[in-house]
Amino acid sequence: TLSDRLTSVLQNLRGKGKLSDADIDATAREIRIALLEADVALPVVREFIAQIKQRAKGAEVSAALNPAQQVVKIVNEELVAILGGETRRLNLAKTPPTVIMLAGLQGSGKTTLAGKLATWLKKQGHTPLLVACDLQRPNAVTQLQVVGERAGVPTFAPEPGNGVGDPVDVARRAIDESRRAQHDVVVVDTAGRLGVDEELMRQAADIRDAVQPDETLFVVDAMIGQDAVTTAEAFRDGVGFTGVVLTKLDGDARGGAALSVRQVTGQPILFASNGEKLEDFDAFHPDRMAGRILGMGDMLTLIEQAEQAFDQEKAEQAAAKLGTGEMTLEDFLDQMLAVRKMGPIGNLLGMLPGAGQMKDQLAGVDDNHLDRLQAIIRGMTPAERADPKMINASRRQRIARGSGVAVREVNDLVNRFFEAKKMMQQMAGRFGFGGGPGGGK
Ligand code: GDP
Ligand code: MG
Repeated sequence: TLSDRLTSVLQNLRGKGKLSDADIDATAREIRIALLEADVALPVVREFIAQIKQRAKGAEVSAALNPAQQVVKIVNEELVAILGGETRRLNLAKTPPTVIMLAGLQGSGKTTLAGKLATWLKKQGHTPLLVACDLQRPNAVTQLQVVGERAGVPTFAPEPGNGVGDPVDVARRAIDESRRAQHDVVVVDTAGRLGVDEELMRQAADIRDAVQPDETLFVVDAMIGQDAVTTAEAFRDGVGFTGVVLTKLDGDARGGAALSVRQVTGQPILFASNGEKLEDFDAFHPDRMAGRILGMGDMLTLIEQAEQAFDQEKAEQAAAKLGTGEMTLEDFLDQMLAVRKMGPIGNLLGMLPGAGQMKDQLAGVDDNHLDRLQAIIRGMTPAERADPKMINASRRQRIARGSGVAVREVNDLVNRFFEAKKMMQQMAGRFGFGGGPGGGK
C-alpha cells in the first residue's frame, strides 16, 4: 500500500541531516507509484510530483522533524492546498429559487444525493423541491419520489400515464411550481449513462439552458479511479459545472479521483457522500481527504506532535533562562514565537508561578509585529543579541536601517526586553527558583 511504500522509502532517509537531491528524487519516485496505486490519474500525478520536488528542494531543513517526516509534511500540505484551494459554500441565488442541477454518470449517486441535499438544506431552514428530470429509466422517477418522501420534501415529476415526457419541459414547469409553492431551492436530478454519451450530454445542456442553475454539481463516484479525468473533462466541456460532489467514500477507494478532478477542472469539491443513508453526507474536508489519499493518518499525527513538542521544548528552555537572568534577545524572540504558535499563553506561562504578567509583554503583538521583531533581532550582531546592554544609540540606528524599521521600533523592542527580564528576575526572586538575587522570601 501507499503507506507501506512511503514508510519504507522514508525509512531510508531517517537519520540523515539534510534532504539531498538524490533523497528527494528517490522519494518522489516512490510517491509517484504510490499515488498511482491510490488511483490518481497519471497526468495529475506527474504535475503533482513536479510541484513536490520543487518545494522539497527549496525547503529549509526543519529542526523539529527528521527528513522523512519533512517530506511527508510537504506532500500532505500540497495535497491539502490542491484539494482545498478555494473551498466555498453552496451558491444561493439572491432571488429564489436557487437552482441546483446534478450531473454525472449513471450510478454515480445523483438521485441519492438529491435526497441528501434536500435533508441538509431542510435542516438549514430551506424548503427544497426535488425535480425528476431523469426520464430515461422506468423507475428513476419512483426512486426520486421515494428518496423525497424519506427526506420529507415534495418531488416534482411528470404525471404518470403521459408517456415518457420531456425533461426540459419538466424542469421548466418545476421552476414555475417552486415559485407558486414557495420552494426556495430546487434540486434537479438528471439522467446519466454508464459511459459519456453525446445525446444525454446534450439533454443535460438543454435542461441547464432552460433552468439556468446557480450551481451545477458534477457527481462523481470515488471508486472511478483513473477514469475520473476523462469523465470530468467530458462533463466540463459538455455541460459545465461549478462544483464537485464525491460519492461512495464509505468504500475502500483511496480517493485519488478527488485529486484528479480538482487538479484537472479547477472546480471545488463541495460535498462528500459516504453511505446510502440520507445522513451519510458532509461538507468536503480537504485535510481528511489528503490523509486518506496518502494513507498515513498516523504518520501525520506524529508529525504534528513532533512539531508541538519541539515548540514546547524551546519555550521551556527560554522560560528557564528567563528565571536565571541569562536570557538573551534571541531567547526572548524564541519565547514569543513559541507562545504564538502554541496558542493560549496560559499553557506556557503556567510553568512559571505568577508569570501570567508576561501576558502584558505579549499583548498586542500580532504576527506582523512578530515578523518585524524578528527582522530587528536578525539585524543585530551575535554580541548584541547576547548582551543587549551594549546596544547604544548609534547601534540602534544601524540596526533600524539594516532591518528596515524606525529607530523607535528598535528602542521599543530593547525596552520590552529589559522590562521582561526585570520582571522575570523579580518573580524568580519572589518564588525562589532560578538563580535570581534574593533566592526566595
Ligand atoms: P444515479 O444513477 O447517479 O442517480 O445514482 P443513485 O443515486 O441511484 O446511486 C446508485 C447506487 O449507489 C445506489 O445503489 C445508491 O444506494 C448507491 N450510493 C449512492 N451514494 C452512495 C454512497 O455515498 N455510498 C454508498 N455505499 N452507496 C451509495
Ligand atoms: Mg438517478
